[in-house]
Formats: sequence, C-alpha cells, structure tokens
Amino acid sequence: MTGISVLGATGSVGLSTLDVVGRHPDRFRVVALTARSDTAGMLDLCRRFRPQLVAMADPDAARRLASDLRAAALDTEVVAGEEGLVAAAGHPAADYVMAAIVGAAGLLPTLEAARRGKRVLLANKESVVMSGRLLADAAEASGASLIPIDSEHNALFQCLPADPAARASVRGVRRLLLTASGGPFLDRPLGELAAVTPEQACAHPNWEMGRKISVDSATMMNKGLEVIEACRLFAVEARRVEVVVHPQSIVHSLVEYLDGSMLAQLGNPDMRTPIAHALGWPERIESGVGSLQLADVGRLDFRAPDLERFPCLALALAAAKEGGAAPICLNAANEIAVSAFLAGQTRFLDIPRVVEGVLAKLSLPEPLGLDAILALDAEARAVAAEKTAAFAI
Ligand code: NAD
Ligand code: MG
Repeated sequence: MTGISVLGATGSVGLSTLDVVGRHPDRFRVVALTARSDTAGMLDLCRRFRPQLVAMADPDAARRLASDLRAAALDTEVVAGEEGLVAAAGHPAADYVMAAIVGAAGLLPTLEAARRGKRVLLANKESVVMSGRLLADAAEASGASLIPIDSEHNALFQCLPADPAARASVRGVRRLLLTASGGPFLDRPLGELAAVTPEQACAHPNWEMGRKISVDSATMMNKGLEVIEACRLFAVEARRVEVVVHPQSIVHSLVEYLDGSMLAQLGNPDMRTPIAHALGWPERIESGVGSLQLADVGRLDFRAPDLERFPCLALALAAAKEGGAAPICLNAANEIAVSAFLAGQTRFLDIPRVVEGVLAKLSLPEPLGLDAILALDAEARAVAAEKTAAFAI
C-alpha cells in the first residue's frame, strides 16, 4: 500500500486526486489531508478516507473540525497553521504527496515533501515559480521525485525521454510548446474587458478550476507562470519554451526534437488524467476519464498568442527571460492583484497594471536561499498592495 498526503484536499485538484485515489483502494491509503478553512468539506473527506492526520491552515477552523470529528466518533488527529501543513507534507507514512495548495502558501509544505524524499505530485505552480532552484535541489539531495501535475507539464513529462539523465539536459530537444486555451476572453471584444466581473472571468470554457487559476487563465498569466514552471522543471532556457493557443484544450503540450519530430500528448480536458499518470508512474492506472472521441472533436485549431490582448502573458514572458527577482515579484504581485479583483475591489484590467508597477519598482538580483526568497515575496506583496489600493473602485 502506498501512503498519500493530499495538500489542498478540498480544492479542485485535491478532490480530483481523491477521486482517482478512491478508485484504487487496494493500492493507495490516505494518510494526511490539508485545507485552509473548509471544515464541512474536510469532515466529509475524513468520513470517506479516514486519514491519520488533518491540518487546517486556519486555527479556528482546526478547533471547529476537531470538535466535529469527536462528535462523529472519528479519531483523526487535527493540527493547525503552517507547522501543521508542513507536518502533513512530511508525514512518515506518506510515500506520495500531492502539492495542490494554491499560491505561495504552498511553498513550505511542498519544500518539506521534497526534502523528505517523497514522490511529489506538483500542482502548486506558484511554489515552483518562486522557489528558483530550491525545490529541484531539495529533491536531488533527498532522492525525491517531482512529477508535474499541471496538464501541460505532465504532457511534456510524458513526451520527453524516460531516462532522467536525458531529461535533465533535454538533449535533442529544440523547443517545448505549451498549449493555452486562451480562456473565456480569447475572442471577447477588447472594449468589453474593462467591465468583466469575477464570475465571467472564472467561467472557463474547458476546465473546472479554483478561482485564482481561473482568473489567471482569463488574463493568460497562467500560461506565463507555466513558461517559468517549464524552465524550472525541465532545466531549459526561456527562449526555448513557446506558447501556442489551442482553444479546444485537447493537445496538452508538445516537445519538438532537433530532427523536426513533434510529440504531443492528447486527452480530454480532465485533471484526473495527469493525476492518475503521476500516481501510477511508471505504470498506467484507471483515472475515471472516458475515451477521447476524435471524430466528435472534429478539428484542432492553433494560433499565436495576442500579447496586446493579454499583457499579463507579455509581462510573464519578459520576467521568464529576465530571471533574477522578476519571477518572484511577478508571482507575488499577481496573487495580490487577483485577490483584489476577486474581492470586487479593483477591475480586471488593473491586474496587469499592478504587476507591471511592481516589476518596474523592484528590479533586483536573484535572492539566494529560502529566507531571501520569502523576504522578497513579502516586499513585492507590500508594493502590490499599495498599487492595488491606488486602483480601488
Ligand atoms: P482551489 O482554490 O480549488 O483549491 C485550493 C486548495 O488550497 C484548497 O484546499 C484550499 O483550502 C487550500 N488553500 C487555499 N489557501 C490556502 C492557504 N493560505 N493555506 C493553506 N491552504 C490553502 O485551487 P485549485 O484549482 O485546486 O489549484 C490548486 C493548485 O493547482 C494551484 O497552484 C493551481 O495553479 C494548480 N493547478 C490547478 C489546476 C486545476 O485544474 N484546478 C490545473 C493545473 C494546476
Ligand atoms: Mg496548466
């Protein structure tokens, strides 16, 4: 039996993970679960999966859950705060850790899983973007394996050579091509973007996701973060990673080799496919996802991204090329700007304005080490909060 911890268990990726895990009771045992504050969702998961440990980031939620679990006669241990999340990530009985917390809050727990030599199923792209080489170095030192869950990176993982040595240097590879759906505003008249609401921004045409990544898809910041994620995970320079818009979200990404061959991974847009791939790897296991019916899809379209329509993508591509502090500042500023937009405090088009303002103010060398990264992240958030306040509706 393989023990698994699911960080961010009540979210979109967390629940998809537990759906796949639940199909293989002979193979996987849930050891630990984490969430921020959704006690009702977590109580339901505890009833179904009987984990040994649950961590709630919010201490009040932890207290409420502990009392609900007692009332339900369940003996799951409850811990709280960041230390609690880290304990769930490093749990000695967990062989695999699904890192599916959203945002920078996932960094320390994800790093802990890498330091402890776990198989890390890596959905939390923000932690990859901000941590520079820390995650890869920690994994190398402990023998942990990092398997990407983001559908594009999981596709690339599947299309790259299986041999880790060949993979690290990406020998024979000309380009990595990340596909992008273009989100809900791909063809919306530009004049309408100023007034779009959080609900419209979160209505993704192909994927059901959490609200932060849904807004990132609408601005295409998501694809920019993914370019940086690909550079980190596959040790390639930004100039060798390209974005192509593919509105059907059937081709999840492609690797182009020096001989002109392109290998692509295709499938229905359902996160259970990359999750099952990473859980089963190197074997293949059932995910619950149905067969892709190509005749029903009919056609696959591709086009170049429009950087004027999507200034967040342009900012992220520039940050990917610049390196240094830029990816950390970009990520932190974006988290603040998106949460203000989701809270109704600013408008959709203020998101790139905030990010651009922060990047212009903080052009710094790459911070070395975790403490310096966290300090820069905090500084970028403070500047972003000032800029956001200036745009308040
Ligand atoms: P979500 O909002 O649905 O879920 C987030 C989870 O993290 C929840 O369990 C929530 O309780 C927890 N959480 C939120 N803030 C927290 C905090 N401060 N401390 C501790 N826990 C916290 O998000 P999601 O869509 O599942 O995305 C999770 C991650 O996976 C993100 O990094 C996202 O970019 C990435 N991802 C998601 C998808 C997708 O299809 N949803 C695809 C690719 C990558
Ligand atoms: Mg993705």
